[in-house]
Amino acid sequence: SAVPSPHVSVRSLLLSDDPAQQTRIGIWAVGTISYVLYSLIQALQVSLGLMDLRESNLLIAAMLSSTVCSYAVYRSGLNHRIGDASLTYAQVVLGLAFGLWSYAITGAARGAVLMIIMSSVVYGVFSLRPAQARRMTLGTLGALALVMLWRSHADPEGYPPAVETVHFLFAAVVMTVITRLSVHLSHLRAKLGRQARELKEAMEQLRLLATRDELTQIHNRRHMTELMTIQCRQQERSRAPLCVALLDIDLFKRINDTWGHHAGDVVLQRFARVAGEALRASDLLCRWGGEEFLVMFPDTPTEQAALALARLHAQLREVRIDDLPPDERITFSAGLTAVQPGEAIEAATERADQAMYRAKTGGRNQTVVG
Ligand code: GH3
Ligand code: MG
Ligand code: MG
Repeated sequence: SAVPSPHVSVRSLLLSDDPAQQTRIGIWAVGTISYVLYSLIQALQVSLGLMDLRESNLLIAAMLSSTVCSYAVYRSGLNHRIGDASLTYAQVVLGLAFGLWSYAITGAARGAVLMIIMSSVVYGVFSLRPAQARRMTLGTLGALALVMLWRSHADPEGYPPAVETVHFLFAAVVMTVITRLSVHLSHLRAKLGRQARELKEAMEQLRLLATRDELTQIHNRRHMTELMTIQCRQQERSRAPLCVALLDIDLFKRINDTWGHHAGDVVLQRFARVAGEALRASDLLCRWGGEEFLVMFPDTPTEQAALALARLHAQLREVRIDDLPPDERITFSAGLTAVQPGEAIEAATERADQAMYRAKTGGRNQTVVG
């Protein structure tokens, strides 16, 4: 039965366990702290007789209840359903609305409130897309103009039209500059993101170049040597059987000479693909060089590896190469040997090579165990 863990930390209770959600709640906390500080300054203004108590309390109540509501939205996970972007937009609009509201009731000290409005604009332009940011800036300027017109009309002594005009012009200049800057920065951010992606792709390309054979796309010799060393070390610990086989395509020079180098390349690619399909996923296949391939069979005794190679011999009898006449078939000769625990991999490969040579002299298209 599901018993709730007694070790739920206060942190995970307050912040949620999802890191993305934690970041959002962190941003929310910054917003909340600024609302609280703002409320304190407003209380000071009331005590100094600069502001009406009832009007101030109304705004403080609205700010604090909105911050409680948005915490509830985050904590309940409702933001996932609404969509983060629209929630950011809602928060910015709400912040701006509170700023304009404050401007309308602050009276003499209202010039400073423009800075609060700016801080919401800055948060908005850096978290919204450029088009949204532009719309928000224009909307804010329009709304600010309306508030100023309304206040200077209703209270021309408290909000003289000349002062409102100067306030508006400053606000318009600063907002335009901030929006321009944010568009510039978001281009820069997009460019950085693109460069990071390109770098990642280039790294992946380099990794492939370093570990893959270009023609056949299977492991290259350098990488295979690394993989085999790891496998040998594992075998020393587990004492599991391990064997290697060297595979050499028969009379490959004739294929090149008769049908051309390109046909030879196609044969190599096809051989690598068929071998990859015939072997188990845990078997390691590489292009050892030219028309030679090396296979390492982890946890496999030689009899089973020989069976796998016999399967490959059989499958190749069915394989037709497009660039070759229909009755041409690829065959290979292989030397197979068990790797002894503690033995150098070069020694085992050398033994496999000698066995492969015997497979050639013994008539080709066969596997010899050595
Ligand atoms: P055997 O049955 O004794 O192995 O005969 P063979 O002709 O396969 O042996 P040999 O080693 O004489 O020939 C190998 C040929 O493989 C010679 C070389 O030109 C060709 N070769 C090596 N690498 C490539 C390659 O990447 N593409 C092509 N098309 N040919 C290659
Ligand atoms: Mg060869
Ligand atoms: Mg050959």
